[in-house]
Amino acid sequence: MIKIKNATLISMSDKREKIENNIDILIDDNKIIKIGRNITDVVDKEIDATGKIVMPGLINTHSHVPMSIFKESADGYCLQDWLTKVIWPKEDKMTNEDVYYASILSFLEMIKTGTTTINDMYFMTDDIIKAALDTGVRLQTTRTLMSGKGIEDGLNRIKELDDLINKYNNKYDTITFNAGVHGLYTTNREYIKLCSKYAKEKDLLVHIHYCENNGELEDIKNIYNDDAINVLESEFRDNNLLLAHAVKLTDNDIERLSNMNASISHCPISNLKLGCGVAKISEMLKKGINITLGTDGQGSGCNYDLFEVMKFTALLQKGIKEEPLELPAYEVLKMATINGAKALKLDDKIGSIEEGKVADLIILDLNELVTQPINDILADIVYNVKGSNVDTTIINGKILMENKILKTSIDEKSIFVKCKEIIDRISA
Ligand SMILES: [Zn+2]
Repeated sequence: MIKIKNATLISMSDKREKIENNIDILIDDNKIIKIGRNITDVVDKEIDATGKIVMPGLINTHSHVPMSIFKESADGYCLQDWLTKVIWPKEDKMTNEDVYYASILSFLEMIKTGTTTINDMYFMTDDIIKAALDTGVRLQTTRTLMSGKGIEDGLNRIKELDDLINKYNNKYDTITFNAGVHGLYTTNREYIKLCSKYAKEKDLLVHIHYCENNGELEDIKNIYNDDAINVLESEFRDNNLLLAHAVKLTDNDIERLSNMNASISHCPISNLKLGCGVAKISEMLKKGINITLGTDGQGSGCNYDLFEVMKFTALLQKGIKEEPLELPAYEVLKMATINGAKALKLDDKIGSIEEGKVADLIILDLNELVTQPINDILADIVYNVKGSNVDTTIINGKILMENKILKTSIDEKSIFVKCKEIIDRISA
């Protein structure tokens, strides 16, 4: 058993106060079993959190995990050119081992910057899962479903996803699956009908890129002879949806989305980097749509520090709306925690710190120049905290970092070297 002692708790549970002081948290195996003051149970390990903050681990709802090796390769490209001229030719040269090491790089960064769950969409998924198991992070993943090379290729991808689900599902607490459809613009009507049907049969969330920029809207119109929202409504009405980006939405689109089972993965940094625009998440929130946060792949998303994403999210909406009352800090913290858990259908386990939930939590140390003195602890977390303030990371009851030191046997520096070798080789 582990006891975290004397913490300031921000549980993100609507059954508790937003901020509680002098709280002890007892963890047995992978579960939080007791939250209270002066817990006296005998434990194997005690973590003194005096003067520190305990909050749920952050949840990144949209990423392409192995793209860490493509960090800062998007500067000067629009989305379509970046994909076709920079990324896809390099990805064609990637081996299983490359995907594994690139994933390790991403997962170590996540642990160090306070993200405990990530939603991934890529290929060679088996190697991404192996890296997740080797590092201990919580992963929701897929085999990316698309039909760019024809329906036969698309069907093979569904079969690959099905094989993965049969191989791993229910075997590991930390690995779950969804149906990651790449996008309406990389599929066609015949294929998305099959994806929707498969997801319903297997009770899988459909995770899909949706309306990222104007070029995508034109592509969708050409393929389907219809608008994106009409295609989504007619083909995915009965699915649970997680839409990545949703930048180019009209007020009418938002109204119609609010009547579907759809969450949004808001990826402001990637959207800014690729010059796509800013999603109208304030309007979506007012319509009751569940908003969550993502980095996107690191080629466009820069890094995995979700504290940066929180800050961008809040500032952008206040700025474009010319309204400082938009998005209070607590609302943004919900997006990075419990809202993400709801979107991934994991809110019975993670997203808040409650007795009975799984122990996915982080300890923040705000005793630094940039975060002191604390006037408003919630705003301090959204605007001033960085991934480097994360002191301790616990996932599924396991301490993966303590006092800023990774507990893994994987040597961080050797992963840098390996990943540099990979990018040099596939760029040649
Ligand atoms: Zn993406």
